[in-house]
Amino acid sequence: MAKERIALMRCPSYADQDVEAALEQAMNALGGMPSFVRAGQRVLIKVNLLTRRPPEAAVTTHPALVRAVIREVQKAGGHPVIYDSPGGPFTTKSLEAVYEATGMATVAAETGAELNWDVSSVEVPNPSGMLFQGLTLSRAVVEADVVINLPKLKTHGLTRYTGAVKNLFGCIPGLTKAEYHLRLPELPLFSRFLVELAQFVRPALTIMDAVVGMEGEGPSAGRPRKLGLVLAGSSPFALDRVALALIGLKADEVETAKIAAELGLAPPMEDIAILGEDISSLAVRDFAVPPPGGTSFRLLGRRLSPDTLKIFARWLKPRPLFAAAKCRRCGICLRDCPAKALTMGEHRPEVDLARCIRCFCCQELCPEQAVSIYRPALTRWIFRH
Ligand code: SF4
Ligand code: SF4
Repeated sequence: MAKERIALMRCPSYADQDVEAALEQAMNALGGMPSFVRAGQRVLIKVNLLTRRPPEAAVTTHPALVRAVIREVQKAGGHPVIYDSPGGPFTTKSLEAVYEATGMATVAAETGAELNWDVSSVEVPNPSGMLFQGLTLSRAVVEADVVINLPKLKTHGLTRYTGAVKNLFGCIPGLTKAEYHLRLPELPLFSRFLVELAQFVRPALTIMDAVVGMEGEGPSAGRPRKLGLVLAGSSPFALDRVALALIGLKADEVETAKIAAELGLAPPMEDIAILGEDISSLAVRDFAVPPPGGTSFRLLGRRLSPDTLKIFARWLKPRPLFAAAKCRRCGICLRDCPAKALTMGEHRPEVDLARCIRCFCCQELCPEQAVSIYRPALTRWIFRH
C-alpha cells in the first residue's frame, strides 16, 4: 500500500513571498493543486475563524495563507468560498464582524473569492456513522464540490490539541455545535464524533498554518508560538499525526489521534512519507500542552476504579474558573454554554457544577480571556503516573 504523504515546509514568516514559496513547494511535492481541484468546482476553504480576533493573536488561520491557497485554487480553475461557522450564533451579522477582524474580508476583496453568507443547515444521512446515522451540517459544506481544510496548529483545553480533524467541527452550524457537545459530554465519545465527522466531510486537501501556532491555554487564550512551518496532505488523520510529533505528543496522548489510529485511519509515523524538511530537526521539545485527560471523567475512569471515582468525584473534576478582574460581564459564555450551567453574578458568571459538562466552550469563546481551566492537583497527579 502506498504511504500517506505529508509535505512539511519551512515558512519563516507570514510575508507573502514566504507563504507563497512554502505553499508552492508543498503543492509541488503533492502533485500540484490541479490534482485536488478541477476547473469549475466550488471549493470550500474551511478556515479556522473561532472568534473575532486579529491574525496576530494566533487564534485564527492567518489571512496570508488563506490568500495564497485561494490563488492556487483560482489558478486551477476552482471557485473558492471562504467558510467557517465560528463559536456562537451563526448569523450574517456575526459573520461580518468575524470576517472583518480576522482579515478574511480583505482576502476576499483582494482575490475575488466568495465569502460564505449562507447560515442555513441541512440534515444529511450518515449510514456508516457509529454514533449518528444522520448529521446536521452547514448547507455551504454540503453544496461544495471540494473541501480544502485550513486548520491552525493550537492547543485545546478539552481535546489537548486542535488541528486538521478538530477544525472540521466548524462544518456544524452555529449553536448546533453546542447540541453535539451536550449529547457527547465525555471526551472519548466527542472525539469519536470528530473522527466520524472528518470521515464524512472528507477534505480533499488539508493545509495547516503552523507558521505561528498556539501553546498553553488554547484555542483562544494561549500564547502564540512560532514554529515556522506549513504542513499539507490529503489525509487529515496523517497530517495530525505529523503535527503531534512536531509538538512532542504521541498519537495515544490525544483522543482523536488515538481513535484514528485504532480505526486504521492514521498510519504510524514510520508509514508516513514526510516530504520536504526533516521532522527530527524541527520537533519542538517544550511546546506547552494542557495536561492529559484533565477534562474527561471517563478518562479518569480508565485510571481509577468506579468506587474510587464516585468517592472523589467532587475533587477530581476540572472546572472553569472565571476571573472577575478580566470579566466584562458581556454574557457571551452564558449564551453559548450548552448545558446552561452559568448565571451572571455581581462581578463574573457563576457556574452550577452539577450541570456543567466540562466542554470548556466558555473558555474557548470568552473575548477577554477571563476563563481558565482549574485542574485539581490530585487529577494532575493521577495523570502523571
Ligand atoms: S467570562 Fe468572558 S464571556 Fe463570560 S461574561 Fe465574562 S467576559 Fe463575557
Ligand atoms: S460552564 Fe463552561 S465548561 Fe461548563 S458546560 Fe458551560 S460552557 Fe461548558
